[in-house]
Amino acid sequence: MFSAEGAARALNPWGLGPGALLAGFVAVRGGIYIWDNVVEKLVHLSGARKLPTREKPIKPELQPPLNPISYVYLFLNAINELVFVMNIMHFMWHSPLVKLKLTELTPLNTFPALYVIFLAQDALYAPLHRFMHWRPVYPLVHKHHHRQIYPSRGYADAANEHPIEHMIGVLCAWVGIFAAAYTTGVHAATLAVFFNIHAALAMLNHSPYDVQFSYLGFTYSVKAHEMHHRKFTLNYAQYFMPIDRLMGTFKEYNSGS
Ligand SMILES: [Zn+2]
Ligand SMILES: [Zn+2]
Repeated sequence: MFSAEGAARALNPWGLGPGALLAGFVAVRGGIYIWDNVVEKLVHLSGARKLPTREKPIKPELQPPLNPISYVYLFLNAINELVFVMNIMHFMWHSPLVKLKLTELTPLNTFPALYVIFLAQDALYAPLHRFMHWRPVYPLVHKHHHRQIYPSRGYADAANEHPIEHMIGVLCAWVGIFAAAYTTGVHAATLAVFFNIHAALAMLNHSPYDVQFSYLGFTYSVKAHEMHHRKFTLNYAQYFMPIDRLMGTFKEYNSGS
């Protein structure tokens, strides 16, 4: 049953005061800002090429600046990220499903657990993303994220989405985490690795760099997400393009208009 007490616990599971909440907000923003820049620099230093479409000038209207509603959404999504971080830390610390001690690291609760999180998350995200493109729903929520036809700002373009869509993304992450917790007894260190990789790949998906790799069905490709931003109704998955092949929505990259 809904109660004000339950809602307060969900929003602020550690029962922090205003000063601690503000410090947490600043810490999460700082961490994301640093990580966004570190990832971008590392990819740049690795010699990664730019996407083929970035070799010629792009019309300004296809790369519009952030508008006032973008800043409102980015702020609301930043609050949602703080709530998510507080809840996940609470879950890691208190749930018997999550292993905390170094001695509890096993072959199963590390790499396979990481794989399960990404797979379960994307298996839910891809059809929900497709649903958000359904014509009656699209203008209400997801349309704002597609203002950018050629994303390039990393985090600012990744998180520039309607808060409902942002919550759907958080829900998918929780489903992935619970799937791994129940099947592998996930370790807290694995969850920490997951968040850093997930954030890095979401930022890169909205960068101009041509990064791609594939392993056991995990087929990450910035080109695939750029194609999604340009063509809208294809390549809905973030990490497992076989899900799009199953849905009949996968399309190979082309740099034409
Ligand atoms: Zn996107
Ligand atoms: Zn979309």
